[in-house]
Amino acid sequence: MNLPHVVVVGGGFGGLNAARALAGQPVRVTLLDRRNHHLFQPLLYQVATAALNASDIAAPLRSVLRRAGNVTVLLAEVERVDLGARRLGLDRGELAYDALILAAGAGHSYFGHEDWEVFAPGLKTLEDALEIRRRVLLAYESAERETDGAEQKALLTFVVVGGGPTGVELAGALAEISRQTIARDFRVIDPTGARVILLEGGARVLAAFPESLSRRAQNALEQIGVEVRARATVTRVTADAVWLGGEQIRARTVLWAAGVAAAPLARTLGVELDRSGRVPVEPDLSIPGHPEVLVIGDMSLCRDEKGAHLPGLAPVAIQQGRHAADNVLRRLSGRPPRPFRYRDRGTMATIGRAKAVAVIGGVKLSGLVAWLAWLFVHIMFLIGFRNRFLVLFEWAWAYLTWQRGARLITGPWRRRD
Ligand SMILES: Cc1cc2nc3c(=O)[nH]c(=O)nc-3n(C[C@H](O)[C@H](O)[C@H](O)COP(=O)(O)OP(=O)(O)OC[C@H]3O[C@@H](n4cnc5c(N)ncnc54)[C@H](O)[C@@H]3O)c2cc1C
Repeated sequence: MNLPHVVVVGGGFGGLNAARALAGQPVRVTLLDRRNHHLFQPLLYQVATAALNASDIAAPLRSVLRRAGNVTVLLAEVERVDLGARRLGLDRGELAYDALILAAGAGHSYFGHEDWEVFAPGLKTLEDALEIRRRVLLAYESAERETDGAEQKALLTFVVVGGGPTGVELAGALAEISRQTIARDFRVIDPTGARVILLEGGARVLAAFPESLSRRAQNALEQIGVEVRARATVTRVTADAVWLGGEQIRARTVLWAAGVAAAPLARTLGVELDRSGRVPVEPDLSIPGHPEVLVIGDMSLCRDEKGAHLPGLAPVAIQQGRHAADNVLRRLSGRPPRPFRYRDRGTMATIGRAKAVAVIGGVKLSGLVAWLAWLFVHIMFLIGFRNRFLVLFEWAWAYLTWQRGARLITGPWRRRD
């Protein structure tokens, strides 16, 4: 039987959930991704700061979908979408579709300063996390051998740009590495004296949270030694410094957590995009004029019933993935699609060891309770991984004992400049 062909681009939260919802249905599904694994991005900073191994937060797409007999996984880079011909251009060859679900996610935006990326990597992929881990660990190693005082100070200064959840989590974890994990491991330098500076362009960190939780997050960061600077707009980044207008902060390690831009694939659709390159979608998640093409997750610009944009969060992508699959099946069987409604179950961000802020069902939480809620939610969502309880145990152990153990190992020093 010639079943309709549904192509899903991206095996992240949105695409993987769409593919799973299509498993066992009367369609032929092809899931395309440029990587062979699904990545649990919310725990990336734990890999970047040596609290977890890469394999703890990545699962091969093939094994996750092993039992889905009607789903084929292909490792491929999708280069363009031809809406008229209903075909995708791949790195090698083309692929026709009857229905298309685009879930290619988002990457970093340097607000027109792409040349800063080499000095200030962002955190989006496993490669990014391992590169950040390498830079952080090597900064301490280099500082231990450095005889020039100013250069040693620059090596022991870590700047995180962007005070959203990723920036807050990264800065908190970096401060704890220096103050606790490696505090007694060096002989020349004192890691506890390392500076971790969090720069936020807006008025407060965690701007998407209520003001009282932002304040608590800032206090908690300051308690563990992070210098938080709001209304600090970065104007230049070089190999050894960050500039705020005329002010120079000498730092050998700068990490970028400030801007997000939708996957470049969106630009090939020929539709109007928003400033972050996202694709505006209809309430049923389709592109205007193309009911057979649905765009979900970080790549899409979707509004809730009140007209507010939905945030770039994993639960949004997961729910949209399932909904998009359902709408594809409805359309193929001649039924009308349904509008998407986001069920907001809460937002949370960790600040360091056993501290977090969260808003769950309108209730504001902070401290240990929020951190336990965060831990529970994140572990429960670790799909298809080796053993989510093993991950939980390893991680809890590392937290309780301040150990990062073997994960503190890194490669040889390569200079960036
Ligand atoms: C460091 C970090 C921490 C985060 N923390 C949280 C958190 O605590 N809570 C939360 O809810 N959200 C968090 N998020 C956001 C959340 O991860 C995203 O909202 C979610 O991943 C979006 O899902 P998606 O399916 O749209 O995209 P992704 O999960 O990014 O998946 C996109 C997939 O598309 C593939 N792809 C892209 N382009 C192509 C192409 N041209 N060809 C083939 N394949 C392609 C990619 O390889 C990737 O697998 C975090 C994000 C980051 C980066």
